[in-house]
Amino acid sequence: MKMHPYTAILLAGAVGDTLGMPVECWKPVDIKEYLGRVIAPLPPQKILPKDTPAWFTHLEKGDITDDTLLTVAIAESIIEKNGLDLTDCMNRQVDAYFANPIIDGKSIYGFGGSTVKAFENWKQGNTMLAVPPGLGNGVAMKVAALGIYAHATRKYVEALQFAGDIGTLTHTDPRAIAAGVVQSHAVYALLSGYDKQQFLDSLVEVCMEYEYPLKDNHLQTERGSLLDKIEWISANQNVDEQIAYRALGNSCNAFESVPFTWFMVQKYWDAPLEGLIVTVNWGGDADSTGAMYASLAAARHGIFFPNEWIDMLKIKDKILDVSQKLSELH
Ligand SMILES: [Mg+2]
Repeated sequence: MKMHPYTAILLAGAVGDTLGMPVECWKPVDIKEYLGRVIAPLPPQKILPKDTPAWFTHLEKGDITDDTLLTVAIAESIIEKNGLDLTDCMNRQVDAYFANPIIDGKSIYGFGGSTVKAFENWKQGNTMLAVPPGLGNGVAMKVAALGIYAHATRKYVEALQFAGDIGTLTHTDPRAIAAGVVQSHAVYALLSGYDKQQFLDSLVEVCMEYEYPLKDNHLQTERGSLLDKIEWISANQNVDEQIAYRALGNSCNAFESVPFTWFMVQKYWDAPLEGLIVTVNWGGDADSTGAMYASLAAARHGIFFPNEWIDMLKIKDKILDVSQKLSELH
């Protein structure tokens, strides 16, 4: 389907989100045993593998999760403010969270703990928003529109700094914040036609510039910095995914699932649909790796998956409307 690249990015993010949603937190071995292989969007599963938390039980096939809701909120803020406005951007995200039902104390769309705590603090007018440990991928998963903004307006530095600013409002770990900045850049880089080596080199450069050093009060410092992970990808571009999975991990920690996604993007550089399917079938934070992977792959390839998957999305019309307006930012 021929489509504006910005529309393709936002639709792809939602498609990746809905594709991974039913297997969030699943182990790859369980996906194999229970489902064979996820090759198209499914409803949340009624029968779950042992020790697997039940996520998204109130959702249906074609629903998206927090990743897409917050991506759209940020895009709408950019459109309404015709630029980057931190207060409006936060207000819209907080509204997107509180507009949705909380059942048994849990958001049905799977909002992450750090994000929820910061949104509650914002709503209550507290000056301290982000609370430790704040090392999830909640920043990286929602910044696609900032990469688009950088591309559309050429206000690249402003967009990346803004990604860092919105990251600081919800997350405290330097890796979580830097992951959001680097992911914004990654969308911009792939829209701009970087080749694979330029892409990988640029991830290193941006991370070096934006990642603050880890301190003793941060958790899991022994796992290394985000820069360490990107350098690992650069040195191990063609290794088997099993090795990348063991070295990087794909949990909701920013230093796992975000570099795991970048590894997959470069590994499946010219095979985006296969790359998306493989990424999701590694389980872990599958809705977020699916969303981040698909946004990046679409920045390079446009729509790369069946049109039926777009028609399945319940949020399709809203995304078409928002991305149409983003494309007018030029
Ligand atoms: Mg999610």
